[in-house]
Amino acid sequence: MHATLHLMQKHGFPALRRGQLTALQVNLGYRCNQSCLHCHVNAGPQRTEMMSRETVADVLAFLEVSGVRQLDLTGGAPELNAHFRSLVMRARAIGVHVIDRCNLTVLEEPGQEGLAEFLAHQRVEVTASLPCYQEDNVDRQRGEGVFRRSIAALQRLNALGYGLDDGLPLNLVYNPQGAVLPPEQSGLEQDYKTDLGQRFGIRFTRLYTLANMPIQRFGSTLVSKGTFDAYMAVLKAAHRDENMEQVMCRSLLSVDWQGHVYDCDFNQMLDLPLVVEGTQRPHLSELIGRDLCGNPVAVRDHCYGCTAGNGSSCGGALRA
Ligand code: SF4
Ligand code: SF4
Repeated sequence: MHATLHLMQKHGFPALRRGQLTALQVNLGYRCNQSCLHCHVNAGPQRTEMMSRETVADVLAFLEVSGVRQLDLTGGAPELNAHFRSLVMRARAIGVHVIDRCNLTVLEEPGQEGLAEFLAHQRVEVTASLPCYQEDNVDRQRGEGVFRRSIAALQRLNALGYGLDDGLPLNLVYNPQGAVLPPEQSGLEQDYKTDLGQRFGIRFTRLYTLANMPIQRFGSTLVSKGTFDAYMAVLKAAHRDENMEQVMCRSLLSVDWQGHVYDCDFNQMLDLPLVVEGTQRPHLSELIGRDLCGNPVAVRDHCYGCTAGNGSSCGGALRA
């Protein structure tokens, strides 16, 4: 795979500083029941990197002291971490809102019996990737039969009250197949709702459209095809200064499976640690009780992926 970090300093993304911290995004490990072609962490059933009980304890200690009230769990399939359910229960017990970035098919995995009911009982928000509402496109990216199993999982979540009016939040995530900006979020959300509703009776809360970042496998493919510079030019030309206030690194910290901390998930993938005086690679346990407001963000050119067009974050477009 081609590295892209060294290509990220040509365009001079404007300086950014952190604001008030409101969310902790935690990668619980790289094990996954799927092996999607586009996976940005190269997750799969054979991966063994999983967050330990000790690091999970650091996450809870950080939440308790910081007062941060949103915990966003990702992976791999975060549910496959042996400490997933206890982490969720303990975070919920101290009043933290929990988001599970769920691949849907994990709900049917052996050993995961009762997972959907557990999520509903704990009132966990579910955010699930469904890159298209067409079966062929989903199966090509995510594996044979994944679309049908995802539909069955969504129906099961609906039956538990997810995605219904005034029900538990169930969000779907879309990203473009190629080197283009995502379409307007609300229009595509309506297309998804109409199609999935008419064909399968599925309901969901929001569709999040995310821009593709020129990093990891997608960035490497751009380099292989000789289109990396052209895609960067598309992102830069669409940059909007007004999106700078809302980019997620201003209010979120990203934690890897070993407890190291980054400004966002993309910087985690680029191995660009949080900039903190006195340490090269800050660990969450070192940041308990520390105010990071005003800290410089480790920006590079990939940041234009967050500020282009309507903007992009783990919660979808910045301007819906
Ligand atoms: S479901 Fe998500 S984490 Fe798992 S392989 Fe696919 S993209 Fe990666
Ligand atoms: S890529 Fe990360 S650091 Fe850059 S603007 Fe987006 S959220 Fe912030």
